[in-house]
Amino acid sequence: MDKILLGAGHHPNYPGACYFNLREYDIVKRMCLNIFTNFKDKMNLGIVADNTNVKDYNSFMKWKVDWINKYNPDLYIEFHLNADASGLANGVEVLVNPKFAGVIPVAEKLVNFSSLILGNKNRGVVKRDDLYVLNTTKCNSMIYEVYFLSNKKEVDTYNFNYVDNVVGWVLYRALKSF
Ligand SMILES: [Zn+2]
Repeated sequence: MDKILLGAGHHPNYPGACYFNLREYDIVKRMCLNIFTNFKDKMNLGIVADNTNVKDYNSFMKWKVDWINKYNPDLYIEFHLNADASGLANGVEVLVNPKFAGVIPVAEKLVNFSSLILGNKNRGVVKRDDLYVLNTTKCNSMIYEVYFLSNKKEVDTYNFNYVDNVVGWVLYRALKSF
């Protein structure tokens, strides 16, 4: 079975978006751990190692990409939560590098299924050729922006352990034919 590697966006010292006393890193790390724990028997899952010995964000990102490339999965999925200044934006999107055309149908399945099951807006697959992780990992990779941390309604609906497991099920169904 294909090797799927899960990773949380950001780092404990560089936690990404922060809203409502919540940090993006903490939520997506929990999501990865819950999915890994509950779906590792159904999928060939790995999870990116922690690095507590980080000097700065750029060297951490380089370390992470080297680690991913050594692990050499068939697909790397990095979990993030989206944010916008108005607090009104909502929904799910999946970012891919257009260089890896083969991953686009998988990303479409994931975003469509995620929106359908979690019941939030489908913002579609977004092609980005300017993101470090998508540009430097040698494998198929995608960034899964599950919902908006800046949107109170989405946070109140989705920031729960049981929703992490729903996301795991979404992933399992979307990747089944990958
Ligand atoms: Zn992020």
